[in-house]
Amino acid sequence: MIKDNVKNILKGLPEGVDLVGAAKTRTPQEMLEAIEAGLEILGHNYVQEAERAFDVVGSQAKWHMIGHLQSNKAKKAVKIFDMIETIDSAKLARAIDRGCGNIDKNMSILIEINSGEEPQKAGVMPKDAVSLIKEISVLEHVKVMGLMTMGPFTGDPEDARPYFQKTRGIFEQIKRLNLPGVEMKYLSMGMSNSYKVALEEGANMVRIGTNIFGERT
Ligand SMILES: *Cc1c(COP(=O)(O)O)cnc(C)c1O
Repeated sequence: MIKDNVKNILKGLPEGVDLVGAAKTRTPQEMLEAIEAGLEILGHNYVQEAERAFDVVGSQAKWHMIGHLQSNKAKKAVKIFDMIETIDSAKLARAIDRGCGNIDKNMSILIEINSGEEPQKAGVMPKDAVSLIKEISVLEHVKVMGLMTMGPFTGDPEDARPYFQKTRGIFEQIKRLNLPGVEMKYLSMGMSNSYKVALEEGANMVRIGTNIFGERT
């Protein structure tokens, strides 16, 4: 099942699009099955759960943090993850920078955009994205590599389209600024129900859980 799902999704993705297997609540065995079928990146939402899985799966995949990260977990997170997709404050970026400095590592990060401008949600507000990225760009051990967004969830993928378009607009705007130390390479948007719309709107990284591993129980 998992293997067929991964193969089918990979077959349907355009060249140059990265698939992140959103693995929250899944067992290491399920993750390994997906990797065997060609999945190269695992996405995790919780540091502790990721640590347990990392003991089994290790570097057979790249590890992306896709959940909200608290600064006090930064030290643990930097040991496991190859990319953190959910940076939304300078404080968090500095914590990652310090943690990386201690272990002599450089971290690729994406800036999470709160494209729905929902007060209770994670992510930086669109109007604050440029100043946040400028502030982060001077840090030595983190490198801004693009943007990530969730967007409000309604269940109808068409409802997500305007938020994907808005995030794409910010992505292009920042790219044009040519900020030193900043590379706008990855645009991470779209989940199981919405990734096809996200691809139409320029995503080159999609985060898919349910369509790979089945419904979460
Ligand atoms: C769980 C999750 C996904 C994948 O969701 P599915 O609907 O299961 O595909 C994508 N992105 C983030 C940030 C998630 O937490």
